[in-house]
Amino acid sequence: MQIISSVDQMQKTAEALRLEGKILALVPTMGFFHEGHLELMRVGKAHADQLMISIFVNPTQFSPTEDFDQYPRDPEGDIAKARQVGVDIVFMPSAEEMYAPGYQTSVLVHHVTQHLCGLSRPTFFEGATTVVCKLFHIMKPHIAVFGQKDYQQLTVISRMVMDLDLDIRIIGVPTVRDNEGLALSSRNAYLNPEEKKSALSLKKSLDLADEMFAAGKRNAFIIKKAVQDLIESHPYTKIDYVSVCDPVTLEEVETLDKENLLALAVWVGKTRLIDNCLIRDKKV
Ligand code: AMP
Repeated sequence: MQIISSVDQMQKTAEALRLEGKILALVPTMGFFHEGHLELMRVGKAHADQLMISIFVNPTQFSPTEDFDQYPRDPEGDIAKARQVGVDIVFMPSAEEMYAPGYQTSVLVHHVTQHLCGLSRPTFFEGATTVVCKLFHIMKPHIAVFGQKDYQQLTVISRMVMDLDLDIRIIGVPTVRDNEGLALSSRNAYLNPEEKKSALSLKKSLDLADEMFAAGKRNAFIIKKAVQDLIESHPYTKIDYVSVCDPVTLEEVETLDKENLLALAVWVGKTRLIDNCLIRDKKV
């Protein structure tokens, strides 16, 4: 397994592999690996000759009040896990390597960023699309793998790839959960045992909405209210948003259709968690 920290070396390595005819898959990450990250890597490996990952806690996608400094990091543990999964190349640049002095260019996807997390984290997606676009140019993948846990991010990246004609296939991987249903996240490390119990309300509320849909309920307001009430019945929770929306445009809907996205962001103590599920007509 090769570990690369320079942009120049990464570009030369990727170019040489492409000239050899190798198919390259990339899994971009911020590190502190859990099974969700490892699952993305396994999917990437199954689709490519060379599996590349990036580990970079991207400062430009955090606002000044967010947890950039506290974000959990474990480069040595991550490298050991990556080796076990069979990663071929780890790209781990410094912030200075990624953002040269005088840096002033960004990539902005205009509309799908204006809903859900884009409302409470207004600069997040511009930072994310810019860094992912840079990683695509540095690492030259044919395929890039993202988690459906960050559904909006997957939507925004897919839109960017389409709009900028990037010759990269985007693969989305279903959310990996622990045995109690909590979506795995590096930020779960912030939760104490009491908060973790409350955090289970996110998945429980998704299941409740799914049951309501299966029972014929189609009024988004009623479903959202039930979701909110379930979450708020757990201590330490504070809802950022509960949205029932179109799974492509992410625009809120009033009446549920054949396929709908239910997306949540909830503070549990000082930790902001997100989760989502597609609520769809099982007959379709
Ligand atoms: P992060 O390191 O949190 O930026 O995540 C890196 C990638 O892993 C993103 O594409 C995430 O959507 C994905 N990911 C994070 N958690 C999970 C999970 N529980 N299941 C599936 N994918 C995940």
